[in-house]
Amino acid sequence: MNILDKIHETAVSKSERMAIKSEQESLTYGELDAASDRLAVWMKQNDPEGTTPVIVYGHKNPYMIVCFLACVKAGRAYCPQDISIPESRVRDTIESVHPSLIFAVEGEVSVVASEHAGRIVTLHKIREIVQTENGSYDRSWQVSPEDVFYIIFTSGSTGKPKGVQITTDCLNHYLDWSVNLGSTSKEKEGAHFMNQAPFSFDLSVMDLYTSLASGGTLYTMTKEMQGDYAKMFAFFAESGLHIWVSTPSFADMCLSDKKFSKELLPELRVFLFCGEVLTTATAENLRARFPDAKIINTYGPTESTVAVSDVEITDGLLADTVAGGKSLPVGSAKPGTWLEIWDENGNSVAEGTQGEIVIIGDTVSVGYYGREDLTKKSFLTCERGGKNWRAYKTGDAGYLIDGQLYYNGRIDLQVKLHGYRIEIEDIENNMVRLPQIDHAVVIPNVKEGKVYSLTAFVTGTKGGQSDHEFAKGIKEGLKQFLPSYMIPKKVRYLDTIPMNNHGKADRKYLGGLVS
Ligand code: AMP
Repeated sequence: MNILDKIHETAVSKSERMAIKSEQESLTYGELDAASDRLAVWMKQNDPEGTTPVIVYGHKNPYMIVCFLACVKAGRAYCPQDISIPESRVRDTIESVHPSLIFAVEGEVSVVASEHAGRIVTLHKIREIVQTENGSYDRSWQVSPEDVFYIIFTSGSTGKPKGVQITTDCLNHYLDWSVNLGSTSKEKEGAHFMNQAPFSFDLSVMDLYTSLASGGTLYTMTKEMQGDYAKMFAFFAESGLHIWVSTPSFADMCLSDKKFSKELLPELRVFLFCGEVLTTATAENLRARFPDAKIINTYGPTESTVAVSDVEITDGLLADTVAGGKSLPVGSAKPGTWLEIWDENGNSVAEGTQGEIVIIGDTVSVGYYGREDLTKKSFLTCERGGKNWRAYKTGDAGYLIDGQLYYNGRIDLQVKLHGYRIEIEDIENNMVRLPQIDHAVVIPNVKEGKVYSLTAFVTGTKGGQSDHEFAKGIKEGLKQFLPSYMIPKKVRYLDTIPMNNHGKADRKYLGGLVS
């Protein structure tokens, strides 16, 4: 599959079909293809020497997609940044990328204005370019298979996000598989896909590009709609969705309203889940409310291009899993991928034995942008089937039975909270940037393998404040460094942090205080 060719083919054969529909406006395949060609021409003329990735800042505007495609058509990688990311984190990213060009589609331009960045192009100018540019587009400019297509930044334990680089080849191999998830690519033609995740999360790649690769229409749901049940349910009623893509947490939130059922979404055929544990309770609830829709659980980190395994949660599998008091599997490997379980010496363990999940194959990232040190720690090369492949040590714990992968938590301090990937040290390192805090230890509140909230234990200067005032001040202060989902729900002041025998914070003891 070549995603750019696919989009172009649909633009030629079904030019009037909607590619993206948002609250504000919609773009057909013909418009999307032509607009991205024109913007690519403009990029070639106005930033001819530019080689850096291009930052695309905004929320759910269809013109973000025009910018993504224009970048790769002009041979440049793009890096999406959602407007909900705090300014200081956007600035960290800009500082590490040094973009010669930024497309500021939505949000405050002042957030992306930086001495480390070149020209900023706003939506007004982008519209002008796509209406007036008349140079002709040259396909030879587009990214080659080994070039980086996009960079998605994710929580990093140092306190600064790290950029995962996904090549054109990785994306195309991923799409060869994802277009057939839950239904064939032919059946997906013209289907309505739901976009829930912001484009700065790799889950959005599952809906955006699977939809574009199969000639579907992407329905984007804004953050504002997601924060208002009436608006969200109006979106469901109007969209006529066929394919649902979200984290299980988002589906759980929708399930809390009785209206979320087949009557609301009569055309829904497939639930595609990724990113966190799908519990049997969520799956049972969905089976009852949407008896005709398939539920597909997929697994994978951003570093392996969204997902690398899938399993359909049939009634039989669900009943057996519940009866056995077990967890649902996360699936078997997609073609072109090997899923292995290694011990700490890098040896494969016996079937059914727990170890670290290692992903080897054709969708593994080339590493973290500008971070050779971090890349070396987690990525390696492995020979399989007579060829060398990139491999990624996930840090996930799991085991394999009959080719089915089971996920069983992490071997480090990364967590998933409401579907968001968070390095606990990322929060701790940002907490100590506040002058009131000397030492911070963040503890997840875990029930049945799922994280429900975070509690921070801190030492420092309370300055005569009550516990409540102190915690409120800390949470307020953290907003400048961290997105809201990373801010601990509770902040507890301690005179000292308890230490274990190794002289490290006693996370086990503190865990006992939050459960
Ligand atoms: P992200 O890079 O945000 O997609 O997060 C990747 C991490 O999410 C993985 O390393 C796992 O820890 C977790 N994850 C992804 N898919 C699943 C799944 N189906 N079940 C449980 N955890 C998952």
